Formats: sequence, C-alpha cells, structure tokens
Amino acid sequence: MKGVYMFPKNRTWRKIPFFPVLFLALFIALFSGRGEINSERVPEKVKTGYLSIQAAHSRAYLSFLAADELEGRDTPSRGQTIARRYIESLYKTWSIIPVGDAQELNRSYEQRVPMIIKHFGEGTSLEIITASSTQKFMAEKDFSYVMGVDFAGTISGPVVFCGYGISAPDLGYDDFASVDLRNKIVLVAGGKPGGQRPDTPFNSPKHWARFEGRRTPAENCARLLARKGAAALLVVDESFDHYVSPHGYIRDARISSSSNRIFSPPLSVADPMVPTFWVSPRIAEALFLKVSKNFSQTVGKIDNELKPNSFALTGLEINIKIDLKQTVSACGNLLGMIEGSDPELKNEYIVIGAHLDHIGMTKDGYVFNGADDNGSGSVGVLQIARAMALNPEKPRRSIIFAHWTGEEKGLVGSRYFLKFPTIPVKNVAAYINLDMISHDCSLDEVKKEAKMFHLPEDEIAHISGQPGKLLRAYISAPSPELATKISQLNADFIGLDVVPLLSFPMLGNSDHYFFAFERVPSVFFFTGGNEYAHTPLDTVERINAEKMAAVIRLAYLLAFSLGDEPNRLSWKQ
Ligand SMILES: [Zn+2]
Repeated sequence: MKGVYMFPKNRTWRKIPFFPVLFLALFIALFSGRGEINSERVPEKVKTGYLSIQAAHSRAYLSFLAADELEGRDTPSRGQTIARRYIESLYKTWSIIPVGDAQELNRSYEQRVPMIIKHFGEGTSLEIITASSTQKFMAEKDFSYVMGVDFAGTISGPVVFCGYGISAPDLGYDDFASVDLRNKIVLVAGGKPGGQRPDTPFNSPKHWARFEGRRTPAENCARLLARKGAAALLVVDESFDHYVSPHGYIRDARISSSSNRIFSPPLSVADPMVPTFWVSPRIAEALFLKVSKNFSQTVGKIDNELKPNSFALTGLEINIKIDLKQTVSACGNLLGMIEGSDPELKNEYIVIGAHLDHIGMTKDGYVFNGADDNGSGSVGVLQIARAMALNPEKPRRSIIFAHWTGEEKGLVGSRYFLKFPTIPVKNVAAYINLDMISHDCSLDEVKKEAKMFHLPEDEIAHISGQPGKLLRAYISAPSPELATKISQLNADFIGLDVVPLLSFPMLGNSDHYFFAFERVPSVFFFTGGNEYAHTPLDTVERINAEKMAAVIRLAYLLAFSLGDEPNRLSWKQ
C-alpha cells in the first residue's frame, strides 16, 4: 500500500459536503476529458470493431514485435521474418484473405521482394586525382554510400558542381541548365537555396514540400541524373560527422546501428538512380581548393542570390573504388484483405499500411527494438484487421492490410508494391499510413511544424492539446476532404487533438510518399519524432498505449467510413 493516497483517519467520506463533490465531478466530466468519449455514440454498424481495439491488447502485441529476440527487425533478417510469420498466423486465425504473390491456385500473404545485401569492403575509397597529386578518402570516415550502388568496380570521371541539384524550371531555377552531365560525377550541396529562409520560392506555400527533407530530394536528384546519363552523385552532407537517422534525427554515431544496406534489383531496373554517396564537407572543400575556389563561399553566394552557379571543376577527376561484397537475399511485404460487402465496390480498396522493419542491432549487441518505430503502426494495422474481422458488418470496399519491408532502407517495400502491385493501384481509393503512433507530442514542436506547413498564424495559435492527445495527420493536399472527414470522426468518437498538415508532394518520411504520387488520397498519422527514436531506447516501456489505441480507433473508423461511402474521395489537381 506504500505510496497509495488515503484519506487521513480523522476524515471520512461521510464528512465531505455532498454538493461540492457533485459539482467537482460534473466539472471534471465536462472539462477534463475531451478524450473520454462515450462509446455509446459510436454507430452500431462499426461498434463491435471499435470496442475490440483495446490499449492492453496494443501493448501485448507490441511486446512481441519489439522483443529483444526479434533483434530489431532489420531488412532482411530472421527477426523481421519471425514478426511477419507471427502476423500471418493471426491473420489466418481471423480469416484475413492473403493478397500477396500468386502461388499456383492460391495466393500467399507474402509479396517477396528480391534483395541484395551490400557489404562494402575495406578497399572502398574515393580519390581526387590531378596531374600532380592524389588525395584519398575512406568510406564511412568521409563518405558513405546511399543508393543505386549495385556493382563492384570503379566509377571515375570529371566532376561538375551543380549547386543544390535542383531542377525547377517552373520557378525559373535549374542547376543543370548550363552543364554537360553525360558521364560526369555530379557534386551538389544538400538542402535548398536559401535554406529555411521564408522568402525564397523554394519555401513558398505551394512548392516547399518538393524540396524538403534529406534523403528524398537526393533520391529524386539521383533519378533525374540517371535519365541525363551522369555517372554518379555526391551530396555534401553538413552533418556527416553525426549519424542522422532516416527520420532525420541526429544520433550519437557510437550507438548508431550497423544496419546493412540493401538494394532490390527489379526496383533498380524499374526506377534507376545513379550511384549516390553522402560526402563530408572535407571532400567538397578539397575539390574546390584544387580549382582555387571555396565551397562554402560558393554555396553562400547561391543562397544570397538564389541564382544557379554550376560549373565544371577542371583539371581533376574523381575515382571511386567500390569493393562490394554481395549476398543474395529476399524479404517480404505482408498483404491481407477483408473483402468488401458490395459486389461492385469490393473491387476498390482502402489500404492501411505500416512498415514492419526497423534498423536491426549493432555488432556489439545493442538491439534497436523499434517499439514506436514502427512496432506501434504494425500493431495498429493488425488491430484494425482484427476489428474489421470481428465486426459483423463490412464496408462496401475491400480493406487491405499492408506490412511493408525495408522502409528504413528508403521506402523499399511500398515502392516495390507500387511498381509491382498485387492488386490494381488505380482501384486504391485511399491510403492510411501508420508510423510511430505511440508517443506523447510536444505542443511547441507541433506548432513549429504547422508553421513549416504554412498554416495561418491564427490557426497555429489555436492549436492546443496535451502531449498525450496531440496527433499529426499529414494529408495529401489534393484531397482536402480527407482532413474534414478525419476532424469529424475525431470530434465525434475519439477526442484526440488532431493537427491536419496538408502538402503535395507529401513529405518523404514514410510509406505514404509514393502512394500520393499515384494520386491516391493519403494520410499519415504520426505522433512525432522523439528522443528515443532510432536508439536502443525505443522500447515498449516508453509508449503511451492509451494514446496508441485511440489513434488506432480513429484509423479504423476512417478506413471503415472511406470504405463504405458511395463515392471515392476526389483528387483535385
Ligand atoms: Zn518509421
């Protein structure tokens, strides 16, 4: 009983005046718990499913997916396969229909994604070669490979500097307009001209999301350069000496994951990118010094004038030796379905997805449990599958439950699904993404983000909410009715403080990104980054299970409602 509050002995319940207590109870009921929505109001049609989503279950499922024994669910890994097998067994129990790869007469839950694991040997180096000198840099210390590097051997060639690697002719800005890129190694600065300065065209309400983020703009640039016949892309990374997680959080390099790099050959063919490397500012300055220029001053000039300044670095070459060891492997997406109740509309789909993978463990045994990222979203998808299975009525459209692989490696699983779909993508009426839905949010952070999304000042001022109630909803801007629908469902039946953040393109920070490019109205529910993300401290003890269950109930009601309406959401663009 230690620590439990008890009334002092000389006071008893009988002695407490009755009316103030009644008033207090009424006050608490009215003002304290916007979240305590009476489930009586939830329509009968969806109620059984709604009531089946319980916080205690969320925590229980998550305890398995985030267990040390699953070793951080790296892509590919035994731990991730075990997680997938576990979900498959639940789906079989709940009669969820498999919609992965075709297997003779049946289909499996798995959509197999062929992969090659890349190990870079000690011989991987980058040399700056002039007539009189060779300067050598080593992998991991001064550069790291990112994507598109799927061969062993040497890439060498002359170097061109191309500003920020941005081609935006519609904004009167093109870093590639005046340079010959064929067989060139292209050096660019990370970020955008003028950085976060609000007055640049790159931060205008209509265009800012195109240039936001770290890996996504680099990947888009690598795709463009593949079409233009360039040899490689070097992106100067100011934070090179820190480890930056795929979600953008800077982490102590010493505990960063030793998580491997992968590529998927079918994707490399369908969606080619040039070999791309992050390089340290030391490499950029060394290159510029050879042509009697200064890298940071050159970039500073672009920032000030907002004009491209691209040029060849004459009299030198770069030679990148890639000592690649490859292991052929595979991993899988998991895809299940509840069939819609309408004979026509069941051929349309609402997809609810979450990445099952995380970033593995270090060589010395630190496990990155990934409870919030993204055990929480994975549990969300499976609790919604269970709710849909238990609910006697089904929505008219079919509901697909997707557990993606390789999100942490660059949205590999969802990208693969959209390139090689197991159901017609044009029939996907909406996509709901759950990634990191179990932590408290800081109001300041949410307001800062709302500002970035160009929400009007008065709306930002009105954002309120406790850390345990705040939820970000990133929404594809061409489908604004999605925001209205979410707000309505939340106000009527959930009681979280949902902040709608609309943009197009959407931010490339999770698996909704490529769905929106397919013109699928998309929402990404996210409680936000936190200090434990991508560290060994993202464990089940640190989650808020009540909040997580509330987010899952909201996503369930949204999926049911989108699945049941006679008309699909429109895409206004
Ligand atoms: Zn994630």
